[in-house]
Amino acid sequence: MSHYPARAVVDLAAIRANVAALADHARAAAVLAVVKADAYGHGLVPSARAALAGGATWLGTAQVSEALALRAAGIEAPVLAWLYAPGAPLAEAVGAGVDLSVAAPWALEEVLAGARATGRTARVHVKVDTGLGRNGVMPGELGALVDAALRAEAEGVCRVVGLWSHLAWADAPDHPTVRRQAEVFADAVRLVEGMGARLEVRHLANSAATLTDPSVHLDLVRPGLAVYGLSPVPQLGGPEDYGLVPAMRVEAELALVKEVDVGQGVSYAHAYTTTERTVLGVVPLGYGDGVPRHASGDDTVPGGPLQVGGRRLGVAGRVCMDQVVVDLGPGATETAGDTVVLFGPGRDGEPTAEDWARAAGTISYEIVTRLGARVPRTYVGEAP
Ligand SMILES: *Cc1c(COP(=O)(O)O)cnc(C)c1O
Repeated sequence: MSHYPARAVVDLAAIRANVAALADHARAAAVLAVVKADAYGHGLVPSARAALAGGATWLGTAQVSEALALRAAGIEAPVLAWLYAPGAPLAEAVGAGVDLSVAAPWALEEVLAGARATGRTARVHVKVDTGLGRNGVMPGELGALVDAALRAEAEGVCRVVGLWSHLAWADAPDHPTVRRQAEVFADAVRLVEGMGARLEVRHLANSAATLTDPSVHLDLVRPGLAVYGLSPVPQLGGPEDYGLVPAMRVEAELALVKEVDVGQGVSYAHAYTTTERTVLGVVPLGYGDGVPRHASGDDTVPGGPLQVGGRRLGVAGRVCMDQVVVDLGPGATETAGDTVVLFGPGRDGEPTAEDWARAAGTISYEIVTRLGARVPRTYVGEAP
């Protein structure tokens, strides 16, 4: 690999173990590992293979292009893709054996056209909006959509294999909308099966519901974040409470170390000023790499957390596009090339993605998913 002074080290053994733990949480259900958005920043194909090795029997992507990339890599497991607009390459998807979500009449028509173009039966999961208010056909229009799909099924053009939905408040397990959505979903299942659909899978649960609410596991659970070892419910428990291990560690080499005087303004707008003669380090990762600018520090609050030489420090001043500065402290002995850890599993005192989420006022999903494409991913823990 070409030289880059930073990297995301992804532990595939952790992904395998996390999926095994999720399968254990949802014993009655199969596991669909969600690998959208480049597997939440971890790398699509290696992560997908690790999830399958850990016991996932399905993969899920948002975009059709992501599902096709899995097929292009030779992955043959069932894949569901659920987000596309008119004109998507659905013939290619049907031809590649990708299951497609359908949430509107136009989508069904395009899927059926794709199936007719390839001569292959399209596998359809009808998505019903049980209350999220996002994707999915409204319950009042479900019957008409399924009726059209079943007529196409009778002609062999498609198979209605799934009915599914997504929760609005899965990360607050006691929220009344969870029960209400589960009831609306149960009604939808009764309706669709009553119309003659022979569903293979009914599915509703994301990571949070997989970990906290067995009543909505149904036939298939769809964890994403938890596959990568992060907690979707940090207010209820960390990864360790659910048997998960964060799979990503982000580290960089110090690009410069220098001594400066007291009163030295640091980085743009001098948001931070040294309070004594000290040693500054330049860390070659910035918002161009996905380090959130919201996690900048100033004179009163340290920025996003960093671990250097076993010490927990924070970003000094503004997060820049390509770099951040860290105040290593008076007499620090680090030199250029020494390692700085932004986040990892947290087992050696290093910060976690959750710590960065808190520093930036966001969720850990965004910290790992926004890691820049230019940061190389390297892999450890390959299957033997
Ligand atoms: C992203 C996504 C998931 C996975 O969500 P997590 O909270 O990461 O587990 C499941 N289902 C749908 C429809 C999604 O878009």
